[in-house]
Amino acid sequence: MTNIINVKVDKEHFLTHALAPFSGAEEDENENSLPSKRDKKWVFSLHNQKENTHITYRTYRKKGEYRSDPILVETLTSTTTFTPLARMNKNGELELLGADDKRFHLLEDLLLSIINNEDFNWEIFAGNKCARCGRKLSNPTSLKLLLGTVCRKQLLLNSNVTVSKTANY
Ligand SMILES: [Zn+2]
Repeated sequence: MTNIINVKVDKEHFLTHALAPFSGAEEDENENSLPSKRDKKWVFSLHNQKENTHITYRTYRKKGEYRSDPILVETLTSTTTFTPLARMNKNGELELLGADDKRFHLLEDLLLSIINNEDFNWEIFAGNKCARCGRKLSNPTSLKLLLGTVCRKQLLLNSNVTVSKTANY
């Protein structure tokens, strides 16, 4: 694995990060779908302090794919297998595809149910890269928020996404 998992992610901001690679202009002015201009990925890891175990995930949208294509989520326990897990609907929500667990309709509900489970005591870590564009981060504020300065501004322009109130622009 190439990403260094070393930045702790606030649970409060987790969904912003998890969904950031899939935000941005995806339609032209006539509402025709546009393909993604580059690969977009975000790696995050859930650590269970109690049992000293972790699971690492990678959310991935390939260059050339459309908003209506499923997003791939890989668990890094298996090295090469990608499993399409969710698809973005018209409201910009990530709907789970053929989920075994029918309690959850959206990817974020599933992730929130995991991280909010007190029994498991999860902590979330991610690589020192921008959640939206994947560029390496060095600015302390950017590292704290896991978003670069340009992408923070871009996300503010996108009404679907909530950016940290503590962001220092
Ligand atoms: Zn960025």
